[in-house]
Amino acid sequence: MIFCYDMFLMLFGVVFGSFYNVVGIRVPKGESIVTPPSHCTSCGRRLAAWELIPVLSWLLLRGKCRTCKAPVSFVYPLMEFLTGLFFVLVYLRIGLAWELLAGLIGVSVFVILSVSDIYYQRIPNVILFPSIVLLTVVRVFIHPLGLINYLLGAVIGFGVMLAIAVISKGGMGYGDVKLFFFVGMYTGIAGTILTLFLASLIGSAIGLTMRGMGKLQPRQPFPFGPSIGLAAIFIYLYGSYWWMLYFHIL
Ligand SMILES: [Zn+2]
Repeated sequence: MIFCYDMFLMLFGVVFGSFYNVVGIRVPKGESIVTPPSHCTSCGRRLAAWELIPVLSWLLLRGKCRTCKAPVSFVYPLMEFLTGLFFVLVYLRIGLAWELLAGLIGVSVFVILSVSDIYYQRIPNVILFPSIVLLTVVRVFIHPLGLINYLLGAVIGFGVMLAIAVISKGGMGYGDVKLFFFVGMYTGIAGTILTLFLASLIGSAIGLTMRGMGKLQPRQPFPFGPSIGLAAIFIYLYGSYWWMLYFHIL
């Protein structure tokens, strides 16, 4: 039975991931998420139902438009797959408890904002602000670590990132600063501090890899949001374990 729940949540997550791609790309431009229907951004042809199956369609079409052969970004299927994967992992970690709601909201927001950050190199307030309000309201009712823990995490995360942004004079985007308020509300104090370190590690690794592949010029900025999201979700899932391990070693 547990296996069935997993498969269901994976499919559920992958379909949601498909929708999150649309939200992350259209909402920052002020476009409707309903119309126009999904189309090839290169030739404008409306996509058939079988071309809209998350992950599978992209694989079947080998990442190209069927008619004009324009490449379709691998970001689409990647985000669909990751949403499904994280939905399942959050469920396996939390189980059927109210915190599952907060867990899935976190994954959803990080996926949507990562899409926006990858496409537009910014984390749009139009998505971030409602997300912060939503999670804060949820945290008033659901707070396994205590409400104060999350509020302090949000203030500390925002404060540390603001200091980094001011000191580095633009080396850190203010969207990333505001995103850490959300991270704090998601993971609490310890989780936020761990996320700060892990996000820097992931960001550096991605930056160095892209530079190595010649896809990034020295000092050229690249989106940090996906690294923050990945780190926050990872810490949300497994962070408390690391934290305890650390203190037991001491
Ligand atoms: Zn096309």
